[in-house]
Amino acid sequence: MNDNGRPPRWRRILLKLSGEAFAGSNSVGLDTDAINFLAQEVADVHRAGCQVAVVVGGGNIVRGSSFSKTGIDHATADQMGMLATVINAIALQGALERLEIETRVQSAIAMHMVAEPFIRRRAVRHLEKGRVVILGAGTGNPHFTTDTAAALRAVELHCDALLKATNVDGVYDSDPKSNPNAVKYSAISYQDALDQRLGVMDLTAFTMSMNHNLPVVVFNARERGNALRVVMGEPIGTVVGAIS
Ligand code: UDP
Repeated sequence: MNDNGRPPRWRRILLKLSGEAFAGSNSVGLDTDAINFLAQEVADVHRAGCQVAVVVGGGNIVRGSSFSKTGIDHATADQMGMLATVINAIALQGALERLEIETRVQSAIAMHMVAEPFIRRRAVRHLEKGRVVILGAGTGNPHFTTDTAAALRAVELHCDALLKATNVDGVYDSDPKSNPNAVKYSAISYQDALDQRLGVMDLTAFTMSMNHNLPVVVFNARERGNALRVVMGEPIGTVVGAIS
């Protein structure tokens, strides 16, 4: 329940944060203000009474596809990328703890000194107990993305929606950066997004969401309070899902 006494729109959500969001105005590395900002966004949603699982990206540190261009095997570069996501996960955990939010980090790659292993039932239990669960190391497998990890974990953890935090206001009919007349959708069906090749997420992530009827809300996470607005049902961003 939030201050207005209204319940959140969903009981449990999965929030996907890109690595870029951890870098602030830089495109690489970690920025303390950016991490504290993200923690506040997560804390708002949690305090509104919504159970929150977070999947973090790692593109601010290592992106496998780019790093493999140095000649290193793609699967090895992807392992580096997955480890990068754990650094972001721990950074977010630290910032949330400073806000006195109880958290657990679970990693898809075993590293028991640093994080719990990803155990689905245990993650659900943490969520039920009101802990924010931060999921690092993607799916644990190379050749996937953290968007796919987000869709997979959202389905596994029975989340009611996947919130994809981005730096644009939602899904447009064309690229708003190159076309000033681009029109934003408030809602679009999976099929229309596919037919129009809108690139909401990579195809694996998209297909997983569509097959499990998981609504995906794409919204601008650079504006303070937006994550809470989405969760409280304000019409911001774009909902991709089953539209009747
Ligand atoms: N990655 C992977 N398997 C996964 C998820 C991620 O191999 O299941 C690697 C991949 O190299 C990717 C990197 O981790 O480039 C960081 O993830 P991603 O690029 O999805 O992060 P984001 O773009 O959200 O910052």
